[in-house]
Amino acid sequence: MEWIPPNHPRRTSLLMREKVVEGVREGYVALQGLIAHGRGECFDYLIGEETPPPALEAERAAAAALLSAQLPVISVNGNVAALAPEAVVELARIVGARIEVNLFYRTPERERQIEAVLKRAGAAEVLGVGEDAACTIPELFSERRRVSCRGIYAADVVLVPLEDGDRTEALRRMGKTVVAVDLNPLSRTSRAASITIVDNVVRALPNIAKFAAELKGLPREELLSIVKNFDNDANLRKVLEHIARRLAELSQRGVALQFDVGSG
Ligand code: ATP
Ligand code: MG
Repeated sequence: MEWIPPNHPRRTSLLMREKVVEGVREGYVALQGLIAHGRGECFDYLIGEETPPPALEAERAAAAALLSAQLPVISVNGNVAALAPEAVVELARIVGARIEVNLFYRTPERERQIEAVLKRAGAAEVLGVGEDAACTIPELFSERRRVSCRGIYAADVVLVPLEDGDRTEALRRMGKTVVAVDLNPLSRTSRAASITIVDNVVRALPNIAKFAAELKGLPREELLSIVKNFDNDANLRKVLEHIARRLAELSQRGVALQFDVGSG
């Protein structure tokens, strides 16, 4: 990553991309993870590569949901392990959540590698590795349905950054509160989750942690009422309006870069 100059205008984005590529090289990010990341980059561009105001509301509701849960679990896939392992561990610590490896393309090696990445980031225990993923999510097929009996299977609130639509829907049908982090406000995951955070996972997790630290002292009823008052469909509409407004402004103002071409 030395090749990216410190003042490069797309430095943050390039560094993120390099982390995911590194995860592929090490073997714990599936090739499909690169495509998912590219799609995320595109939507991040559209929201302006910063947390849009409606996402802040969703992050606050997510913090309340995690704090009021009996058994909150944070699900981690390859991309999340590559991009934000410390943020996962820190959030889990603040809200008292368990951490579980949950892969679309499960292999024992990948599970163990992600466990190692999370432990290096400070996790004490990582669920969903090997024999631990012995319970099954109904209605899903193959390896994708396997989860930890002490983790996602038993959880009442699950935080799923970068989850797939089918699994999100299946978790909802199991009666769980599903908090998704997905830059695409139009994905099936975004539309099926109880609380959707349209923000990059690298910003979303620290934001949720910050709100959780603020809300931590509140009585459970107040936390539950924050969750109850959150309207996911309305929030997704606000995100779409935010993107539409941004694009309208940009189309009026013009977006071409200006170059100062010297004469000599
Ligand atoms: P769905 O199955 O929900 O309809 P999909 O099949 O379109 O979604 P997947 O490939 O299953 O998409 O999941 C990747 C999702 O994760 C994409 O919607 C992408 O925008 C999002 N994503 C990728 N990188 C990030 C990131 N760093 N932060 C947040 N979201 C991301
Ligand atoms: Mg999908």
